[in-house]
Amino acid sequence: MKQIDEALALILSRTPLMPPVETPLADALGRVLRGEIVADMDSPPFDCSSMDGYALRAADAGKPLEIVAEIQAGVGNPAAISVGQCARIFTGAKIPEGADCVLMQEEAALENGKLVSPQIPAGENIRRQGENCRKGDLLLKPGVTLSPGDLAVLASCGATRPKVGARPRVVHFVTGDELVDPSQTPSGGQIRDCNSTLVAALLAQHGAELVNQLRLPDNFEKSIDAVANARDFDVLLISGGASVGAYDFARPLLEKAGFEILLSQINMRPGKPLIFAARGKQLAFGLPGNPVSHAAIFYRVLAPVLEAMLGATPAERMLEGRMGHDFSSRPNPRETYWPCHAAWRDGAFRLRALRFQSSGDITGIAGMNALLRIPSGHPGMIKEGEPAGFLWLRPIV
Ligand code: AMP
Ligand code: MG
Repeated sequence: MKQIDEALALILSRTPLMPPVETPLADALGRVLRGEIVADMDSPPFDCSSMDGYALRAADAGKPLEIVAEIQAGVGNPAAISVGQCARIFTGAKIPEGADCVLMQEEAALENGKLVSPQIPAGENIRRQGENCRKGDLLLKPGVTLSPGDLAVLASCGATRPKVGARPRVVHFVTGDELVDPSQTPSGGQIRDCNSTLVAALLAQHGAELVNQLRLPDNFEKSIDAVANARDFDVLLISGGASVGAYDFARPLLEKAGFEILLSQINMRPGKPLIFAARGKQLAFGLPGNPVSHAAIFYRVLAPVLEAMLGATPAERMLEGRMGHDFSSRPNPRETYWPCHAAWRDGAFRLRALRFQSSGDITGIAGMNALLRIPSGHPGMIKEGEPAGFLWLRPIV
C-alpha cells in the first residue's frame, strides 16, 4: 500500500495539463491564468494630478496668479500655462504644459479672483507618466488564480480575453442502493445521498466543470453501460463501491470500460480504499463512499490534481498551527486527517478538533475548514499549545 505522497506523485505523473482557452474578462474570475500579462502602455499614460486643486509653476508660489483654465479629467490637450498663470485642475486630469506642481484645493487662497499659493516643491501632487509601470512590464505570471484585483489589472491593460486553463470536465457516478435524494425522507435501510452535493461543491471550488452526475445501482451488469458509454470527460469519479465488498464494483466497472488500474489503496485515514485509474489522458478515481473519506481524499489528493490540470501554481496547503486543546486519538499506522477548525489567534493558527467518530460521521464536518494531520504511527496525543500540522482547505477558485 502506497503512502499518500507516493500515491500522489504517481497520480500527478499521469495528470495531463488542460489546454489554454481564451475567456471574456467577465467570466475570468477564479480561472487560472495561462499566459503572461504585459503592460500595453505606461501607467499612468501621461503626467496627471493626484489632487483637486491648481496646476502652477513652483517658482510662481507667493505671487497672485491668474486662473486661465479649468482642466477636467479626460481633457486631452489642456492649454499651456505661462509665467504668472495657473489652471484649476481635478484628480486624474492631464498636467498642462508649463506647470510643474499641483496645489491642493484645501491649501489654496483666492484674493480678488487670483490664486495665491504657499511655497510648494516642484513635482508636488503630480503622478508621473509610467511611475506605476512601463509599457512592456510583466504584470501577471501564468499560474495565478485570477482574483478581483487581478481582473482590474487585466482591464487596465486591455487584456479582455485572457488565456486561462480549460476547466477539467468531470463525470460523477454515485453508487449505493441505500441512497435517496436529499429532498426525500429515507425509510427502511435508506440514507440521504450527501456525496453528490459534496462533490458538486468541491468541484465548483476547484475550477472543474461537473458535466454529468448520475446515480448507479449496486449492480455490476446494470452499471456497465453507463460507465463504458461516458466519453466526453477528463476525470471520472465513482463514489462508493471502491472497497472489496461483494457490492463494490468501482474497480471492475473501470476495468470493463478500458481503464488501467494504477492504485487501489493508500495509507490514509479516512480514505484507504482509493482507486486511481487511467485511460489515455482520462483519469478515474474510485472514492470510498463515506462522506468524511470523500472530503479528505478530495482535499488531499484531488485538489492538487485539479490544480495541476489547470496549470495553477501549487498552493501552500500544509501548514503548522498549535493545538487549541488537549487532543487524543488512538495510534494508527495510517496517516490521519482529522476534521478540525483553524483560526488565527495570537500569531498562530489554533486548531480545534471536530467530532470524528468514524468516516461516516457526516454531521461532524459542519464548520470544518482544515484537516489535522497526524503522521502514521504517531502516538495520537497532542497537548494544548503543541505544534500540529494541518491541511488548510483552501479552494483554488
Ligand atoms: P461504500 O464505499 O459504498 O461501501 O460506502 C461506505 C459507506 O458510505 C456506507 O455506509 C454508505 O452507506 C455510505 N455512503 C456511500 N455513498 C454515500 C453517499 N452518496 N452519501 C452518504 N453516504 C454514503
Ligand atoms: Mg456502497
